[in-house]
Amino acid sequence: MDELRELYQQVILDHNKNPKNFGKIEPANRTAEGYNPLCGDRIDLYLQVEDGIIKDISFEGAGCAISKASASVMTTVLKGKSLAEAEQLFRKFQKLITSEPGAEPDLKEMGKLAIFCGVREFPLRVKCAGLAWHTMVAALKNENKTVSTE
Ligand code: ZN
Repeated sequence: MDELRELYQQVILDHNKNPKNFGKIEPANRTAEGYNPLCGDRIDLYLQVEDGIIKDISFEGAGCAISKASASVMTTVLKGKSLAEAEQLFRKFQKLITSEPGAEPDLKEMGKLAIFCGVREFPLRVKCAGLAWHTMVAALKNENKTVSTE
């Protein structure tokens, strides 16, 4: 678990400094906006979905390091996934970040997402880490409204 904690810090720092898939993609046929009032995190998510597959995904926004890193890692994980796989990952991620602190994450199943179990020790941060994922689900439903974690 110590290793995972170190990796958590490293990944958050890296992705905050050099976010992946940052910017707007054109054309995007699914978009949504997310807001976490507890921390002030904002995210705009852009997806290009074709034949039930996420062909491209990107984000823009401003927020804390965790919200940004979570969005960045999420885009790298979801690119090329089917919509069903994306929803499944959302549920697994949600379960991961709200599970008991100390519970071992399934590294095989979660891959690099597993490091976000580090937020379990900081309840306020769970919303930061989950923001991009909630926004993604809204975008897939094509709900053109602002998603709030509250
Ligand atoms: Zn935040």
